Amino acid sequence: MRPMGVFGGTFDPVHYGHLRTAFEMLQALQFDDVRFMPCGDPPHRGTTFASAGQRLRMVELAITDQDGFSVDDREIRRNGPSYSIDTLLSLREEFPDRALGLILGMDAFLGLPSWHRWDELLDIAHIIVAHRPGWKAPDIGRLGELIAEFGTHRIDDLHAALSGRIHIHAVTQLEISSTEIRDLVAAGRDPRFLMPDAVRNEIEASGCYA
Ligand code: ATP
Repeated sequence: MRPMGVFGGTFDPVHYGHLRTAFEMLQALQFDDVRFMPCGDPPHRGTTFASAGQRLRMVELAITDQDGFSVDDREIRRNGPSYSIDTLLSLREEFPDRALGLILGMDAFLGLPSWHRWDELLDIAHIIVAHRPGWKAPDIGRLGELIAEFGTHRIDDLHAALSGRIHIHAVTQLEISSTEIRDLVAAGRDPRFLMPDAVRNEIEASGCYA
C-alpha cells in the first residue's frame, strides 16, 4: 500500500489552510490517505478553546466528502498529553508495513526540538513539511543538519522506505490561522470562506468561540 499521511493539530477550528495542505499532500505525494489527528491535551499550548469533542466534530464535518481523508480520535481517547511519538508508535503497531508521513507546517517543524522524544520520530515515520507563509526552512542548527542528512525531494523515497526521510513540500499559501478565526468570531464577525460552511455552521450553533 502507498504511504499514509498523518496530520496532527489542535484544529481549533479546522480551516482551509489545513484542508488544502492535506489535499495537496495526498495528491502530490501519492498517498493513499491522510488521517487528521486532533490532539486531546496539547502539551505545548495549555488549553484549547473548543472542547476535544467539538474539534473532532468540526474535522469530521470538514472532511466528509473527500476520498482519502479520515479522522482518527486516538489522541482524544488517550489520557494525558498528546505526544506525537506515542501516536506514531501506536500507528506503527497497527500498520507495521506502511510508510507513515507525519505532516507538519513549517512553523510546527521549527518547534520540533521541543517535542517529547523528537529525535525518535524519524525512526517511525517520514516527516513531511508544508511551507507556510512567513516561515523559512532552517539551514543551520540540529534541524538544518537533519535536513542535510535525511532531506529528499524525491517522492519515490517516501514510498521506498517506511520512515526516515524529510520532505519539504510547497503548498498553496493560504494565510489562514485558527487564532485569526477565533478572534474574528469573538469580535462578532463572520468566518465564512475561511472554512467549509458545515464547520462555520457548527461554530455558530455551538457558540464555542463567541
Ligand atoms: P493556531 O492559530 O491556533 O496556532 P493553526 O491555524 O496553526 O492554529 P493548528 O491546528 O495548530 O492550526 O495546526 C495544525 C498543523 O497545520 C500544524 O502543523 C500547522 O503548521 C499546520 N497549518 C496550520 N495552518 C496552516 C496553513 N494556513 N497552511 C499550511 N499549514 C498550516
